[in-house]
Amino acid sequence: MALRLFNTLHRQVEEFCPLFPEAESVGFYCCGPTVYDFGHIGNFRTFVFADLLRRYLEFRGFRVNHVMNITDVEDKIIRQVAATGLTLAEFTGRYTDAFLADLGTLSCRRPHHLPRATDYIPQIIELIRRLEARGIAYRAGDGSVYFSINKYRACGCRYGQLVTLDPDAQRRTERVSGDSYEKDDLADFALWKARVPGDGEVFWESPWGEGRPGWHIECSAMSMAILGSSFDLHLGGEDLAFPHHEDEIAQSEGTGLQQPGRPFVKHWVHAAHLLVDGKKMSKSLGNFFTVRDLLNRGFQGREIRFLLLSAHYRETFNFTLEGLDAARTALSRLDAAVAQLTEKAGSAAASDVPTSGPAAPASRSSLETALTEALDDDLNVSKAWAAIFDWVRETNAGLASGAWDAAAAADRLRAWRRVDEVMGLGARPAEEFPAVALALLDKRNAAKAARDFATADAVRGELKALGWTVEDSKTGSRLKRL
Ligand code: AMP
Ligand code: ZN
Repeated sequence: MALRLFNTLHRQVEEFCPLFPEAESVGFYCCGPTVYDFGHIGNFRTFVFADLLRRYLEFRGFRVNHVMNITDVEDKIIRQVAATGLTLAEFTGRYTDAFLADLGTLSCRRPHHLPRATDYIPQIIELIRRLEARGIAYRAGDGSVYFSINKYRACGCRYGQLVTLDPDAQRRTERVSGDSYEKDDLADFALWKARVPGDGEVFWESPWGEGRPGWHIECSAMSMAILGSSFDLHLGGEDLAFPHHEDEIAQSEGTGLQQPGRPFVKHWVHAAHLLVDGKKMSKSLGNFFTVRDLLNRGFQGREIRFLLLSAHYRETFNFTLEGLDAARTALSRLDAAVAQLTEKAGSAAASDVPTSGPAAPASRSSLETALTEALDDDLNVSKAWAAIFDWVRETNAGLASGAWDAAAAADRLRAWRRVDEVMGLGARPAEEFPAVALALLDKRNAAKAARDFATADAVRGELKALGWTVEDSKTGSRLKRL
């Protein structure tokens, strides 16, 4: 079977075939963050999904050239730069670093390219010049340059490829605003925004005077500069399909840089939103958690990742802290099975697991086969997790029966490690016990040794209230998270 993915361009699930089968790598672009604050886990649902798709392509033997832009010039950023007195680079540098750290916390593979919009001003200007030369871009009275949808259509191009729309109605929801008066048509959008006093020192020289790029053109310029004028995969959250991605198509195809018959992007893949109480998690609604908020509550990055990957990417998914607790419990079952297998495998546990490329069918484990069948089916993670938790049950039963020797346990472990190259959960980190819990454990051990069981039980209760339980064994007692 081949990998099949929903393509927003054709509103159907389609086989993924690279645009240039002879090319070394698959061109993969995911719209990145706007770095004016810490990202929330809604944003990271989209980035973790992009990471899953990248990892799965790599697992299936594709080489992926992964680009994620950093939007480092935009209205909100400019307002904050003015308010903080920092330079644009200082301000956005902080949040870019924080974003990359959070991406690492969630075990996302680092994109191969992380272009910043402000490093691509010449390429942006060049694209706008091309559009102007073709009569599709025009300069308005305020010095800004707009994209003319009517002129674009007159060239035989289609505006409205990703969504069926009433552009005028939709445009009102666009986040790049403040550009409506000088336009020929309400649906037109800004490619270059003339400098206004509120921009402070954030501006660049251009053939149209001082100003800054519109948001949409940044992604056209960066993606085509790095991946070429036609490439395989473009991802983002579903809110970006219109107008951002529709405008990217219009700008990019409007330049006429593609070979005849080649689209700007072959597969458009959009991830549904993370919700809170039925509403999109967003900064403006104030209903958000950052990765840092959740770490401060004692959760681990891999638990957040596991939760974000528990629903299919095209389904909206409601976030709750209880859901995250449940994710922790489920993950600890998986961790326990892996820990027992590791113990059983002893020195037979292999560490030379290939990181990419499909295993030869003969050596493919049934777990790997089940994962491949599930993820080939438009990344059906529910099926994948069902197969993984069946494997956990079989593992527990097999270990309990005592039927497996070290080599058999090592084989199973190897199968899990290959599958985890895709799921990206990694090994459970060594537990860090808070000092207060360790002190209580000592107190309980002392009480037990003194046969003061009333105190020992009371201390156990205190530990429970802190989220810890005590496991007693022949070798002593140890703390375990509840
Ligand atoms: P931004 O930093 O606002 O440009 O958004 C970065 C990415 O996060 C985009 O792909 C958005 O579509 C995505 N995104 C924003 N909010 C959510 C959400 N609640 N759930 C999933 N993805 C989101
Ligand atoms: Zn973009």
